[in-house]
Amino acid sequence: MRKILYIIGLSIFVSCASQQPTKNTTTNPKPTTVTTAPKPTTPTYPKPITIQGVEFYTTNIADITKNDNTVSYGSIVSAKPAGYKVVKTYFPAIGQNFRQKYLILHYTALDDDKSLMVLTQQSVSSHYLVNNLGNNEIYQLVDENKRAYHAGNSSWRSDKMLNDTSIGIEIVNNGYTTDSIGNRVFVAFEEAQIKKVAALAKDIVTRYNIPPTNVLAHSDIAPLRKQDPGPLFPWKRLYEQYQIGMWYDEVVKQNFMSQLVNTNFEINSNTSTMIIKIQAALNQLGYDISPSGTWDTNNRKVVEAFQFHFRPEKFDGIVDAETWAILQALNQKYPLK
Ligand SMILES: [Zn+2]
Repeated sequence: MRKILYIIGLSIFVSCASQQPTKNTTTNPKPTTVTTAPKPTTPTYPKPITIQGVEFYTTNIADITKNDNTVSYGSIVSAKPAGYKVVKTYFPAIGQNFRQKYLILHYTALDDDKSLMVLTQQSVSSHYLVNNLGNNEIYQLVDENKRAYHAGNSSWRSDKMLNDTSIGIEIVNNGYTTDSIGNRVFVAFEEAQIKKVAALAKDIVTRYNIPPTNVLAHSDIAPLRKQDPGPLFPWKRLYEQYQIGMWYDEVVKQNFMSQLVNTNFEINSNTSTMIIKIQAALNQLGYDISPSGTWDTNNRKVVEAFQFHFRPEKFDGIVDAETWAILQALNQKYPLK
């Protein structure tokens, strides 16, 4: 391969050099100064190292400016066909991207021991488990290149079944209890857990270049079934302190709020036209909801999931003026591409 590239490179140079005098004589027949073409330098390529009989270039010798995906992370898996040698040339194709497009956050609704047992011994799993033991360990249960079974039936924007394209982080947390009048009382996350999740999430979104719109709660991608990691998960802090995920600009939200003053939003928002507009905006942000013009149990759960993430002070599934303003501010900031 090196020899072939060398020949190609040399022939390109020869071709360019042979054109140079022709161009000069045509455009400038009486040159006052004669410039000497630079002497060709022999291209040098790094020598491959051989590991277990496989040639392996440790330096990327392709044109890195044309390809953002030239760095490999984690294990590099290659075939080992009988009787042949696979050469890991490090000539990355432009036509490639990461399979890991999403980062999905969960709580386990179980304690440490049960979380570990369920996520390793049963049919559900996650790539990482953030314990609640106050130590500095994060457990990896599934290789990042493999699928973990954490998302289930799920959807965001045009993507479905996000186990295929996501990394899942489970956080040990008991979820919620129900009080005497039927309200859910969610359990707060420990500070040490938040810091672990932030560091881990930062590492993952940076390595895979996961966009802010794809860092999501399980409830965002499966709102009819799931409520985790719930309204006490600090999405705003993750955005502000670690630049992870989506959050709206407060000024833009206030602008949308001010447009709703004196419009009697609470009443107008229940007209069919306005409901369709709100449902379409939820769908535009990414939620799996079809604009129907009415509120039913299912699409109220979508509103609830939105509120868990972006309006955690109020998660009753009813769109108030602030919820609507936040939704519009988010769609303005993170438009569909
Ligand atoms: Zn979950």
